[in-house]
Amino acid sequence: SAAGARPLMMSEVVDAETVEAPAGETFEFQAEVGRVMDIIINSLYSNRDVFLRELVSNAADACDKRRFLSITSDDAASVTPTISIKTDKDAMTVTIEDTGVGMTRSELQNNLGRIAQSGTKKFVEALGDGSADVNLIGQFGVGFYSAYLVADKVDVITKSMQDGSPQLRWSSNASSSYTISEDDGEPIEGSGTRLVLHLKDDALEYLEPTKLEGLLQQYSEFVEFPISVWKEKT
Ligand code: ADP
Ligand code: MG
Repeated sequence: SAAGARPLMMSEVVDAETVEAPAGETFEFQAEVGRVMDIIINSLYSNRDVFLRELVSNAADACDKRRFLSITSDDAASVTPTISIKTDKDAMTVTIEDTGVGMTRSELQNNLGRIAQSGTKKFVEALGDGSADVNLIGQFGVGFYSAYLVADKVDVITKSMQDGSPQLRWSSNASSSYTISEDDGEPIEGSGTRLVLHLKDDALEYLEPTKLEGLLQQYSEFVEFPISVWKEKT
């Protein structure tokens, strides 16, 4: 349902330029997250294409989970799992959106604020000496952080398929903390996640849909859900 959407109060209809995004609540990353981010960013620089494979695989996992959970509920069986990718040259963003399970507030904190898997130590050891192997990223369950190979800020706008879940925005510029606030932006229908990558100045090549399509052909050939790459209107 669209119950998550909040009606806009008249007092909020003011000049957009003067309105700050709701500050939200600030949280510290678990210390290991910082280490993992540093390692990913420093040792995988020449392989930064992998970010797309990792984020698309997360989107596909989320679609898969939703499909699985939908079997036992009356969640509109009609929902087609999809992954869509849009670029915006003016905003310098790449947006990866899925119609998957989405995340609750506590899932955001647990999944994107800490590293759950015990393999982290091994990952740090394996990559820490500079002998980076891109394939280790996915294996150790730290794929999300590869977003920071190409982005200096990431927004994760998400709505869980759990009943009554609000649309939330997780945001971080990778330093040591992230924020979570309720999101008033474009509503997510049903459930899903919209990941907005604010590209680094030296990563603007990823604004080209053809570049992204090439990477998808190379790395994401076997994703079982349809992936659409939008061409920007000119
Ligand atoms: P892994 O995919 O190996 O678990 P990641 O670092 O790639 O590790 O992702 C961490 C977790 O964040 C995932 O396990 C999942 O719970 C959550 N997550 C990431 N992306 C999404 C998404 N698009 N939709 C829902 N949950 C997500
Ligand atoms: Mg992953």
